[in-house]
Amino acid sequence: MDTLKIIVKGYADQFAPGRYKATSTTILVKSNGKNVLIDPGLYPKDLKTALANEGLTLDDIDIVLNSHSHQDHVRNGKLFDKSKVLDVYSQKSIPEMIPDTNIQVIVTPGHVDKHVSFIIDTPDGKYAVAGDVFWWEDKQEQKTDEKSLLSLVDPLAKDVELLQNSRKKLLAMADFIIPGHGGQFAAPR
Ligand SMILES: [Zn+2]
Repeated sequence: MDTLKIIVKGYADQFAPGRYKATSTTILVKSNGKNVLIDPGLYPKDLKTALANEGLTLDDIDIVLNSHSHQDHVRNGKLFDKSKVLDVYSQKSIPEMIPDTNIQVIVTPGHVDKHVSFIIDTPDGKYAVAGDVFWWEDKQEQKTDEKSLLSLVDPLAKDVELLQNSRKKLLAMADFIIPGHGGQFAAPR
């Protein structure tokens, strides 16, 4: 089984209408002996500090994954050797699993057309690293009952219907959800 840790909690501060200071939640997964980083975020200093807190440097990361290509999620990918950054959308077909790991890939469009989430099986239960299938602004109350989660408005969503389907899919398959911006929550049962 894998282990997982949120090393940077994503936030989204809307400082002017439609303008955000934001970075994504960054997750460190240890899977099959590999250090996997999901959504490395925007700010190099924050990432390096977070890795140092785990006793790691950039060189210790084997694979970098992204939920989608928005800058607040991917930009720190530039800090890594190109060969380590795996863009599932650049493959011939989207893999069901990340090679050499136990990490499952779930296609979850809606926030943007090209968006995936990752399922990690841990001793505590199944985690969905959901990118922006779920996200909250800092000033928003994070309500996690099923009705609130499914009616959560994503002001940036490209396709609301697809987004709803993606949300339902993740809530049905995971015990815990890690949003792109905001805190981890238990899937309502
Ligand atoms: Zn985001």
